[in-house]
Amino acid sequence: MKTIDDINFAGKKALIRVDFNVPLDKNFNITDDKRITAALPTIKKILNDGGSVILMSHLGRPKSGPTNEFSLSHIVKHLSTLLGTNVGFADDCIGEQATQKAAALKAGEVLLLENLRFYKEEEKGDVAFAEKLSKLGDVYVNDAFGTAHRAHASTAIIAQFFAGAKFSGYLMASEINNAEKVLNNPDRPFTAIMGGAKVSDKILLIEKLLDKVDNLIIGGGMAYTFAKAQGGTIGDSLLEADKQELALELLEKAKAKGVNIILPTDTVIADDFNNNANTNTVLTKEIPDGWMGLDIGAQTIANFNAVLANSKTILWNGPMGVFEMANFEVGTKAVAQAVVEATKTGAFSLIGGGDSAAAVAKFGMEDEVSYVSTGGGALLEYMEGKELPGVKALNN
Ligand code: AMP
Repeated sequence: MKTIDDINFAGKKALIRVDFNVPLDKNFNITDDKRITAALPTIKKILNDGGSVILMSHLGRPKSGPTNEFSLSHIVKHLSTLLGTNVGFADDCIGEQATQKAAALKAGEVLLLENLRFYKEEEKGDVAFAEKLSKLGDVYVNDAFGTAHRAHASTAIIAQFFAGAKFSGYLMASEINNAEKVLNNPDRPFTAIMGGAKVSDKILLIEKLLDKVDNLIIGGGMAYTFAKAQGGTIGDSLLEADKQELALELLEKAKAKGVNIILPTDTVIADDFNNNANTNTVLTKEIPDGWMGLDIGAQTIANFNAVLANSKTILWNGPMGVFEMANFEVGTKAVAQAVVEATKTGAFSLIGGGDSAAAVAKFGMEDEVSYVSTGGGALLEYMEGKELPGVKALNN
């Protein structure tokens, strides 16, 4: 895969697929601009080379056609501030206005196109729509790792119109390099921490990791399906009843492969799914009826920390409890802290996107781990060993 370091953009118009799908409040203020700042190095490199930039992205999930709610016009001002230059805007991603504004771009200038998903052709991967977009630039750059697992018009299909002129941006390249480092070249011991709500979302990844890791820590809501499958009582805790068999199979496989699996032994329980609920700490396999496990307990934290302190590569995907509520964030915070400590002593730590990234951000620890991925689903699929359409399209 060629990266933008393989080309000088002087005099070229770069059409860049970015992921500017940022959260907005009801007054259309950006509440977290990480996805925008993550793309800045790529944009700046192209501008510094003497190129011009046409940015395309989706925002949210518009149902049918343009709406103000999902307009990318809301981010123009902030993007202009971040880049230190006035960013132009085309209020349709294809058509005459976009064509004229793109054609008129001079070196150092930036144009943002309106939301790609105002056209249903985007998500359908429509070839004719992709071809229309492709006419706007001389060179195609994909820096949208977060949508690379989708074969959409702008993320994959469009690449066929840029033979020899398609490149990965810096964000895309570093996401892949970091994932590859963990999958193919981990310093040992290698520990994966899996958490979050559902086992079913992570089965493929867990199976894949059993061939790679030395330790597998399982926490969060998914741990109760394991506890129940092993004969425990779990009260009203999260359960995927139809996945119990599979949970036992995973434990067997781990044993056969010599992977050390560490499950929670104690659990913070609550009598309601509510920050103000009554709480108690009990053994994970002895949760009474009417109570649900919402966080890992102190003994579990100590067990997990001991493994993490001794790890040289750490992959973390999914919180240890309902970290969105202050009374149930303790386990997730403690694990985050243990990952930070391990990183300080030389471990490489990769935080999967989605909720684990949100947790690390909530605790202000983003800069104290090795890498926080911007991709939720995309990272999971990459780690599962699937070929991402957006990555494949750059390689062909
Ligand atoms: P996922 O998207 O699968 O990584 O799941 C993340 C979500 O799992 C977060 O919103 C957490 O609040 C939730 N979660 C973690 N632990 C629990 C638990 N013990 N009970 C209910 N939800 C949980």
